[in-house]
Order: sequence, then C-alpha cells, then structure tokens
Amino acid sequence: MSKKILILGGGTGGFVGAKALAEKAHKIGQDLEITLVTKDQYHEFQPLYADVAFGTASPDEVRAPIKNMEKYGIKVIIDKVTKIDPANRKVMTSKTGSLSYDYLIVSLAVDYHWDKYPGLDKYGYHNYTLNGAIKLGKALTKFKGGKLAVLVPETPHRCGMYPYEAATQLAESFAKRALSVQVTVYSPEPRPLNGLGPDISKTWQKKMEDVGVKFVSHKGLEEVKEGKIVFRGSEEEYDFLIKVPPSKLPEPLANSPGFRASDPRWAPARPKDFRHPDYDEIFMVGEHSMPPAGLPTAGIPVHFAADYAVEQIMNELTGGYPIMGYVKTMTCVGYFGTKGFAGTCELPYDERTGKRRLVCYTTSTSPIIRLMKEAFYKAWVASIK
Ligand SMILES: Cc1cc2nc3c(=O)[nH]c(=O)nc-3n(C[C@H](O)[C@H](O)[C@H](O)COP(=O)(O)OP(=O)(O)OC[C@H]3O[C@@H](n4cnc5c(N)ncnc54)[C@H](O)[C@@H]3O)c2cc1C
Repeated sequence: MSKKILILGGGTGGFVGAKALAEKAHKIGQDLEITLVTKDQYHEFQPLYADVAFGTASPDEVRAPIKNMEKYGIKVIIDKVTKIDPANRKVMTSKTGSLSYDYLIVSLAVDYHWDKYPGLDKYGYHNYTLNGAIKLGKALTKFKGGKLAVLVPETPHRCGMYPYEAATQLAESFAKRALSVQVTVYSPEPRPLNGLGPDISKTWQKKMEDVGVKFVSHKGLEEVKEGKIVFRGSEEEYDFLIKVPPSKLPEPLANSPGFRASDPRWAPARPKDFRHPDYDEIFMVGEHSMPPAGLPTAGIPVHFAADYAVEQIMNELTGGYPIMGYVKTMTCVGYFGTKGFAGTCELPYDERTGKRRLVCYTTSTSPIIRLMKEAFYKAWVASIK
C-alpha cells in the first residue's frame, strides 16, 4: 500500500515540501499518496507584497491558485485545519473531517498578534497580507512628506530583513521625488539585524546612513496612538506609520496537545532534523518552528527545512542513506534600496549541545542581485500558474 504523506499549509513550506516530494517520488517510481490541505484558494508569494505596495507588481503577479498543484500529482484540499491528534496520526479539518497520515509535514506559518499592544491594530499600515499591501500602496501615494516610522514591536518577527528593505527602498524613492521625509526604523534590537550577526548588521547600518534612514532602539512598545508611538520611557511622533506584526502560534497548533514550545509563540521542532520532539513522523517545517529549531523566521529557512524533511522521508521510504545530511548553508536575496542584497548563513549543528550555531555574512550588494531576486520569485509563482 502506498504511504500517505499529509502536508498542512499551502505557503512556502507546504509548496516546497509537496512539490519536492512529488518530483522525487516520480523520478524513482515511488508510489506515494501526497495530500496538501490549506485554507486559502491562492498560494501567495509574500516577499513580493512589497512590490505590490510600491507599485512594481500587480496582485495577480504574486499569487496563483493552489489547486494548480494537482498538476504535480498532489491532491489539494481547500479546508481549514482545526487540530492535530498525533497519538492517533490524524488531522481534523472544518469540512472534510479527519485525515490520516504515515508522515505529516506541518507548515502553517504564524498568526499575527495585532491586538497584543493597545492601538497597534487600529493605527498605521502594513505589508503582511496582500490586502494590507494594496492599502499601504494607496496610502503612500497620498503621503506628502514628514515623519515615516517603521515600527518593529518585538523580535523575532516574520522576515527580519523586511523593515530595512522597506525603509531603504522608500527613502531612496522619496529622495528621487524630492519629497521631504525622515524615515526611521524603531526596533527593540540594539542594532539593525543584530540577530544575524555583526557583518550583516554593519552592511545595513552603512546602507541606512547612506540613504538617510535613522535607527532607534526602543525599550519595549507600550501603545500606539494617532500620530504617536509610546515606548517604555520615550514617545515618538509619526505622520505615516508602517507596522510589523508580533507573531503568535497558529490556532490549530495552539489547539493541539504537544504543539506549544516553552516560548508560547512557537511550536517545537528538533534543531537537528526539524522533527517533532515526541513524534518522529511529524516534521515541523513552518515559520512557527524556526526559533525552537535555532533558525530565523523567514521563508529561506522554511524552504530548507521542507527540503530536508523531504530528503529524510524519501530516504526512510527507500532505505537510502541520508545523502544531504544536516542543513548547512542558506542564501537569502533581498532588496537593498534600489540595489539587491544577498546574505549567506552557515548553520552547523553541534551534536554535543543539540543546537545550531548561526554564522551569517554579506555575500553581495549589487543591482544584479535585485534582478536575481525578481527572476527567482517570479519563476516560483509561474511554476504554480
Ligand atoms: C512582506 C513580507 C516580505 C517577506 N520577505 C521575505 C524574504 O525576502 N525572504 C524570506 O526568506 N522570507 C520573506 N518573508 C517571510 C516568508 O514569506 C515566510 O517566512 C514564509 O512564507 C513562511 O512559510 P510558511 O510555510 O510557514 O507560511 P506561509 O508561507 O505563510 O504559508 C502558510 C499556509 O498555511 C495556510 N494555513 C494557515 N492556517 C491554516 C489552517 N488553520 N488550515 C489550513 N491552512 C492554513 C495558509 O493559507 C498558507 O497557505 C516575507 C514575508 C512578508 C510578509
């Protein structure tokens, strides 16, 4: 009987995992029953939301119907996952009932905790949903200058680089249009992108200085008001606010026993192989599990975790040697004002400590990287069209 692989989520981890499994199984003639359950009709490619907000992509260029994944031999169910019952290897959904599995790949992202701080849900704009990007874009076209604040309430947050990509792109664009704007990033980190180490942080500090973006390290967000952000011990004024959401555990994981890590915002995963600590057949590859696995909260680590989960499943099913070994390096490309940024992280896993050590450095800051990012991301979306 063919093995059942169930994948939860049709975003980065779900897409990468399902497609890699289907392609590898097809190549070696392995019979697998691959099912992907996701609540939204569309796969949306979030790194391109900024392009929607800043006017360089249309909404339809950044998304594709997830049902199109069926062309790869994957069964796609559009339904809401409500709970996981790991002891009985079952997943509960809103309409389809319960689904069983031999292996489970979980990639359900994070939920946005907008009401964690008073006023954060009410004031300002964001780029963390497609609708949000469209509204942000419209509001920016009416902005006539003044103080533009990019607010990071807490870390880690979805895509650590995004606030700096947005701030530097906007500052360069305002300067070109001779609009008088002071762009400031407010973050609890001591330095920009401190979590990725001194080399990457210095690269971004220099870029921000060059394009006139200020960085203010705050001591904790207390409240957002109209025109004002209240931090512990200080207040700052703004004319236009772009905000980053705090993260919380996705509902189906919050409702399931054994899916909350010691920091309740995240779901557990073993740093070594991304498996659930208590269930070897469950792979926790979504953003919800990156901090417990020792990785940043972004699509690139999710991509690597999903690839590695697939390698392990295929090797177990075929009796093969684990060829890829532990995930070692990953390269991220992003915007760097009007240029592009590429950074690499090495992720050696230490058997003695059971942890990964993140060593990151700048690989390139060049216009060609911007083109590479655009080409890679547009090809991604095209593969589901
Ligand atoms: C503006 C922006 C810019 C970004 N830029 C970058 C970048 O340059 N580089 C980078 O590496 N990362 C970037 N990211 C982050 C990256 O997009 C995410 O880290 C990544 O998509 C997380 O993958 P995931 O599979 O965990 O979640 P997602 O890709 O968000 O997918 C989650 C999926 O789960 C589904 N789902 C959720 N709940 C349920 C449920 N109850 N039932 C069924 N389905 C459910 C959703 O519909 C969705 O399909 C960016 C994010 C944003 C918002």
